[in-house]
Amino acid sequence: MNTKPVYLSALLLISASLATAQDKSGTEVAQKPVLPYCPSLDVTSMDKSIDPCVNFYRYACGGWQSKNPIPSDQTSWSVYGKLYEDNLNFLHGILEQASSDNSHRDVVTEEVGDFYAACMDESLVEKRGISAVQSHLDAIAKLKSVQEMPQLIARLQLVFGRSILFAAGSTQDPDNSELVIAELDQGGLGLPDRDYYTKTDDKSKQTRERYLLHVQKIFELAGDRPETAKQNADTVMRMETALANASLTRVERRDPYKLKNKMAPSGLKELAPNFDWKTYYREAKYPDFEILNVDTPPFFKEVNARLTAEPIENWKTYLRFHVVDSASPYLSSAFVQENFDFYRNYLRGAKEQQPRWKRCVSYTNHNLDEALGQVYVAKVFSPELKQSTLNMVKRIEDAMALRIRQLDWMSPETKTQALTKLQGIRNKIGYPDKWRDYSSIKILRDDFAGNVQRAAEFETHRRINKIGKPVDHGEWEIPPPTVDAYYDPQMNDINFPAGVLQPPLLDAKMDDAPNYGDTGGTIGHELTHGFDDEGSQFDAKGNLKNWWTKEDRERFETRTKCIVDQYAQYVVVDDVHINSKLTLGEDVADLGGEILAYMAWKNATKDLSLHPIDGLTPEQRFFIGFAQWDCANERPEDLRVRAMTDPHSPAVYRINGVVANMPEFSQAFSCKQGQPMTKPAEKVCKVW
Ligand SMILES: [Zn+2]
Repeated sequence: MNTKPVYLSALLLISASLATAQDKSGTEVAQKPVLPYCPSLDVTSMDKSIDPCVNFYRYACGGWQSKNPIPSDQTSWSVYGKLYEDNLNFLHGILEQASSDNSHRDVVTEEVGDFYAACMDESLVEKRGISAVQSHLDAIAKLKSVQEMPQLIARLQLVFGRSILFAAGSTQDPDNSELVIAELDQGGLGLPDRDYYTKTDDKSKQTRERYLLHVQKIFELAGDRPETAKQNADTVMRMETALANASLTRVERRDPYKLKNKMAPSGLKELAPNFDWKTYYREAKYPDFEILNVDTPPFFKEVNARLTAEPIENWKTYLRFHVVDSASPYLSSAFVQENFDFYRNYLRGAKEQQPRWKRCVSYTNHNLDEALGQVYVAKVFSPELKQSTLNMVKRIEDAMALRIRQLDWMSPETKTQALTKLQGIRNKIGYPDKWRDYSSIKILRDDFAGNVQRAAEFETHRRINKIGKPVDHGEWEIPPPTVDAYYDPQMNDINFPAGVLQPPLLDAKMDDAPNYGDTGGTIGHELTHGFDDEGSQFDAKGNLKNWWTKEDRERFETRTKCIVDQYAQYVVVDDVHINSKLTLGEDVADLGGEILAYMAWKNATKDLSLHPIDGLTPEQRFFIGFAQWDCANERPEDLRVRAMTDPHSPAVYRINGVVANMPEFSQAFSCKQGQPMTKPAEKVCKVW
């Protein structure tokens, strides 16, 4: 549960988020460090020994890469990751203060402070061991038949906020975006993607072997003898593999028509009659509803078949693993260690566990996001910053309107529709107008795992309770301190939280060139998502409805194929290439965004006389500002996971792949035909 909207397109997959708190009297809690300043163009981050026409990314980011090795507790390291880390430090000071148990704290400070304090009480967490989830394990042990499962699964999904057996919640009606309906989706796996279970190459086989050991270890920690634990691990693997085989791939899921399967509750009963949906929905406290969307009907057919094929003992084994595995980060150290060993060390390459305070700040932010977010915003986001960002958004939107009018491949008919969609986009900048109230969550200073479960239950119910109600256009999917941004095609809105509008990404001390190259490009990126291969299938109101003529759509697809072919050539790690049908929407948005930012920047500065700075022309500084948004170092393990799960291309190609399609870049650096960063005119990909 707690699934993000299916079609939401973020700038990054790993959204990082953080926040802060304020004293009741209005006096700000003293914070440890302030957010450190980094400029949006840093010449010391460059490597001028590299020819920009040969490898622009290395030229712009080589210095950053040598100065910023990946810290041992990180799976990768980047400008975004570093800003997130700065946020963590900033919030750490605030939460340390907020957690001191005194009577002068306001409600919000008390909530976040006590949540953090409970997490930091490591000796109590250690003493409690597995007991924090014992009541759920007892309930599983008492199951006598498959018929009794729906009630328990509803309960487990609520408190673990994880798709145990399947995912469930609410979504906007694809045909009427103003209405929220119930939703069911595939899920139920322990590995990050269905492909891990189905691929037959050596590395995938090796990963499955290692996963089996992880599952076995979880059973041993839960009290099973090694032989039993091993058998149980085999059972879990077999059951998850059946679910994986019936799941859609990530590329298939980019087709919104594949996911649109609206039905009445009676249709669901026909699709999966072996599961008592009535009991399930009653137990999860859903409001009555007449219609739901089942994203992946074949998956639920398989669930239905497995329900009778597997004896109840196997289901109990499956559920037991998922409960303990989900809760592991919040239990005693042996569980925390095993969770780290498999998911962060083996799968993603991190060398050591993050210090506890870092995890506790993250958990607080993740579970009580808008409570912390309020105080963060008060400290870092001014009305002036909001206004200057809106001005930039306006300029990028104007550039997009001009660009649409100028397209030589699109008919006037489709252009009118595209312009209507562009005008319909809502711009959400900084933070929500109305803050979420968490006061109904019981937060205890001596029950960390319980706090996490109650917060998950609150969030899941919040999503469920939207069903049957009109859409709230003011809501955000990510908290204000998040260093990321997103476009949501069903809302037709772009969302820029305060966290992503900070130096070095948006830098009031710098001139327009690097700021447009960086944040201007990000704004253009999110706008372009409304018109990428997926977003372009939704209309101005956010409904899944075609607004293209047949010929224009075909011409659009020829153009996107140019991008698919270009990115398919790029190698991620070893022999793994970019799955460019998965990354298409992001690659299109990266290119479109930078073209729009360039146009908007030229327009914003047309009356100014710009001069070189640090020996770099304004145009060169625009492109270096662009590249420096994504300076990064990446571990091979993490790249491998992301090649399968992340719709974004690796950092180097998000820069080099874009500039290769921009003649403005070649001009700025006087690149010659035949050099790697230039393409012959007829090979340049242009979508928007
Ligand atoms: Zn994106």
